[in-house]
Amino acid sequence: MIDPFGRKITYLRVSVTDRCDFRCVYCMAEEMTFLPKAELLTLEELDRVCSAFVQLGVRKLRLTGGEPLVRRGIMTLFRSLGRHLESGALDELTLTTNGSQLARYAAELRECGVRRVNVSLDTLDPAKFTEITRRGRLEVVLDGLAAAKAAGLAVKINTVALRGVNDDEFDDLIAWCGAQGFDLVFIEVMPMGDIGGETRLEQYLPLSMVRARVERRWTLDDTDYRTGGPARYVTVRGTGCRLGFITPLTHNFCESCNRVRLTCTGTLYMCLGQEDAADLRTPLRQSEGDQALVAAIAEAISRKPKGHDFVIDRRHNRPAVARHMSVTGG
Ligand code: SAM
Ligand code: SF4
Repeated sequence: MIDPFGRKITYLRVSVTDRCDFRCVYCMAEEMTFLPKAELLTLEELDRVCSAFVQLGVRKLRLTGGEPLVRRGIMTLFRSLGRHLESGALDELTLTTNGSQLARYAAELRECGVRRVNVSLDTLDPAKFTEITRRGRLEVVLDGLAAAKAAGLAVKINTVALRGVNDDEFDDLIAWCGAQGFDLVFIEVMPMGDIGGETRLEQYLPLSMVRARVERRWTLDDTDYRTGGPARYVTVRGTGCRLGFITPLTHNFCESCNRVRLTCTGTLYMCLGQEDAADLRTPLRQSEGDQALVAAIAEAISRKPKGHDFVIDRRHNRPAVARHMSVTGG
């Protein structure tokens, strides 16, 4: 699959549920209305769409959400998608998780062929953790991380940089990840979906400032390590920890974009930051064969936009897109 700008599409992210057991302040409002369960693709349908993408050339699949591990029966999907790893059609099956259920599932994920997990963790302070997630407990996530490590999963920590919230902890997070053998990626807040009272302008901290702050304590060596994603990596001298920066707002990364995103209702978004979408549920349900589905995917790829135009400043203090990150999947 090649899009109109010559980019090869080899990566599919799938939001398997919009639901979550946390309500992170930058991601969701305190009171969220989730989709009626009847609207969701079944696990079998998710498997069919993912498999069609694999057949069309996708080499990497990431399940995300919402919280992927709270979807009932989700291990069935991991297990069945694992067959594409065995056949060599897929290079990587992975997930992004808040870690709350990892203690339970880490070993099984490994059995299904998962080798790496991204775990979101914005602070190492238990009280602050509960404040940010509104209902999570740090110790549960730390137990989950220990289980992931014990199961032999490589871990990458995702940390959203939040002004006045975790900006005093970057050094500690780097030291801790170094000690644990985890990679760490800092992310800028993106203007996606209404989050209630708080504004993203208050939360937003450009990563250029994060990097400058971190460099007061650590020496960062540039590397050309890439995961095919938007992060730019350095190595932290002394810890050997890889540190990545995802800067959708201060640095545009769309020129090398290789991905598209599927929601749990079967809508395909060709860009995280644009409204362009394609309905795959109708062709999926139209017939048992995949012909209509494959045609709909090809049509969608032919109109993948060039890029997003996220801006956060005083004049643009509103979400750039109405849907939350949990809908399209981060
Ligand atoms: N629940 C899982 C988790 O938290 O890892 C997976 C879904 S979550 C939407 C994926 C990632 O998106 C997380 O690392 C989260 O921190 C990030 N995220 C959510 N809303 C965001 C926003 N508005 N700006 C930047 N990152 C965001
Ligand atoms: Fe849930 Fe992840 Fe969003 Fe936090 S960032 S509310 S854990 S989906």
